[in-house]
Amino acid sequence: MPSATGWASSKPPLLRFLDRCHAQFATEDDGAVADYIPELGKADPAHFGISLATLDGHVYEVGDTKIPFTIQSISKPFVFALALDTLGAAKVESAIGVEPSGDPFNSIRLNAENHPFNPMVNAGAIACSGLIHEAKGDGAFEYIRQALGRFAGRELGVDEAVYASESATGDRNRAIGYLLRTNAVLKDRVDLVLSVYFRQCAVLVTARDIAVMAATLANRGVNPVTGEQVMTPYAISRTLSVMTSSGMYDYAGEWIYRVGIPAKSGVGGGILAALPARLGLGSYSPKLDKHGNSVRGIKVCEALSSHYDLHMLNRSDDARNSIIADYDMGRNPSRRSRRAHEQQILAAHRDEVRVIELVGTLSFSNVDYVSRQLASKPRPQFVIFDLRRVTSLTRAGARLVTEEFRELAAHRVTVVLSGVKRGSREWQIITEWTAGISNVRDFYLLDTAIEWAEDQIVYRYGGAIDFHDTTELSEQPLLAGLTPEELTDLASVGMVRHYKAGEKIISAGEAATSLYFLRSGAVHITLPDGVRLATLTAGMAFGEMALLESHRSADVTADMAATAFEIPLRDFDRFRKQHPRAGEAVMRNLAQLLADRLIVANTKVDLLTSY
Ligand code: GLU
Repeated sequence: MPSATGWASSKPPLLRFLDRCHAQFATEDDGAVADYIPELGKADPAHFGISLATLDGHVYEVGDTKIPFTIQSISKPFVFALALDTLGAAKVESAIGVEPSGDPFNSIRLNAENHPFNPMVNAGAIACSGLIHEAKGDGAFEYIRQALGRFAGRELGVDEAVYASESATGDRNRAIGYLLRTNAVLKDRVDLVLSVYFRQCAVLVTARDIAVMAATLANRGVNPVTGEQVMTPYAISRTLSVMTSSGMYDYAGEWIYRVGIPAKSGVGGGILAALPARLGLGSYSPKLDKHGNSVRGIKVCEALSSHYDLHMLNRSDDARNSIIADYDMGRNPSRRSRRAHEQQILAAHRDEVRVIELVGTLSFSNVDYVSRQLASKPRPQFVIFDLRRVTSLTRAGARLVTEEFRELAAHRVTVVLSGVKRGSREWQIITEWTAGISNVRDFYLLDTAIEWAEDQIVYRYGGAIDFHDTTELSEQPLLAGLTPEELTDLASVGMVRHYKAGEKIISAGEAATSLYFLRSGAVHITLPDGVRLATLTAGMAFGEMALLESHRSADVTADMAATAFEIPLRDFDRFRKQHPRAGEAVMRNLAQLLADRLIVANTKVDLLTSY
């Protein structure tokens, strides 16, 4: 265990890396602070903050990550996403194109259809603000501010001075507005729409906010810090698409070629970079290069991408790692103790029940791999998929799962699912995939699923399990080898006990004073924490550990109405003295039963450690 100071001094390597970037690029002094909006010219060129948010909601911060600055063009992707979700994709996509323009961001030019080239240039962004204004009227800006706040995970304010400054000087944007209006892309008054646009550009954010906003884009619209689904995955993926092709002004092509991370920058000095399924980065440093991108921010993104090889098109995935264990029921029987004839049936048909334990995300490649693994061996009658370690399911994965279940149903294979709680979100998704497929069963515990499948196999091969059967002491494996006289003597000291369903027969911690031989019904043995150790049916002994230990280590509860012979330990000791040969046989049988349990336990441990 490291000492307290040992913990305190250890820094995650990613934070060390960001520290190094900060130290190295802080000396970079090229570029100029934007001043075409006069108020922006007041920014302190020394400010430099880097923040990185992970998709599990951790936020790293280095330098001036709490200094507010205006979001400017970084608002564009978010307002585009908001327009898609508010007005519907068809309306937005018919008004604004998605092609890179090759022109500067503030170009007063539309495409061949007289529509903006894309939502990342001013014409497209003003059109988006216009669409929101059409839908929300005077409430448009507030609606946008609230949405930006959900991406950042906090309420965002406005820099009124920057807003006023841009309103006073933004004639170029007004020109774009009139061009849009004359082409019917804007329906509302230009001054009203531009006031929304200028205000949205003047929203105040920090490098930390930008990192969280980026991480929300990288996380299919779920803010990893607040957990809120801010926008639909559709809107997010389309937003990332236009960021990829047009996010970095007229440097976009070079950027995606070299850095390979969808990004958006703003003339306020911020850069946002969102690497899908990985991270969100926010940086702030006001000096811009000739394309309008923050000089230090670009360096940070380049360093991050190259140091960790994060280019989004330079990826591979190992589909094989989703199967954590794959075995037949013989390698991991349920905790139900079986009678000899049941054991024989199960041993002869062990490969009729296949168990596949899955882990992580079930994606297109993972599910395809699982389906080929299944097909590579003779088809079993039951396949149990244990999903307790599955964390997510992609849409492609879900589609393939449904198709695989249909395929199995066509071959009369029963699918058994375990590890999913009824009523949970995962459970609902599964119910959706399996709607209309009749061969699917589900159990919460893998052990219960295996037990159920075992029962089916026992039934199918003629070994009816009759809980109402009454067995005699002569059928008890623990008493194997005793003569009829010895058994009669033993029976004479026993008492027949009757238990109701749910009745507790033995409690952990009590003194162990008798042995029990189950005559009918079933009981289960559980540890005090609720873990089931075994289910026993007629013909099996419990509490037999009293022969070795003085206190009970587990609870025994009747599963249904049950009867048992109870033999007090002191009577059993007397019996052993009278019949030393029989006493020795019982102890040998006990050793044999324990050895068998040990073999089963070892196989289970082996299964857990061999994958
Ligand atoms: N409000 C600024 C403009 O429209 C945003 C520019 C930018 O950040 O690219 O000129």
